[in-house]
Amino acid sequence: MPIYDYECENCGRFEKMQKISEESINECPQCGGVVHRLISKNVGIVFKGGGFYKTDSENRKKDRARAVNQERQKDNQALLDKDVKGYVKQAESTTEKVQEASS
Ligand SMILES: [Zn+2]
Repeated sequence: MPIYDYECENCGRFEKMQKISEESINECPQCGGVVHRLISKNVGIVFKGGGFYKTDSENRKKDRARAVNQERQKDNQALLDKDVKGYVKQAESTTEKVQEASS
């Protein structure tokens, strides 16, 4: 069950555990004052620590390596087609991508 943050105009902030289907409260259980629901930080996915970023950058490296591999395959295909102009153009773009990937 998610915990929602509320703020009472009299008592300040408090938390309340509620079902998602439950309506948000608008009356303070302490003093009966007006309460506002705050955007909860407890709902949704929370990324803790640096692990997420590390994995993310590793994934990006893998993606780029994969993209470079695909480019290499295109190089080879261009050679097989004896398309020298195409090969040179393709190889140049691959070199650029390799440089990007390693920077
Ligand atoms: Zn209150």
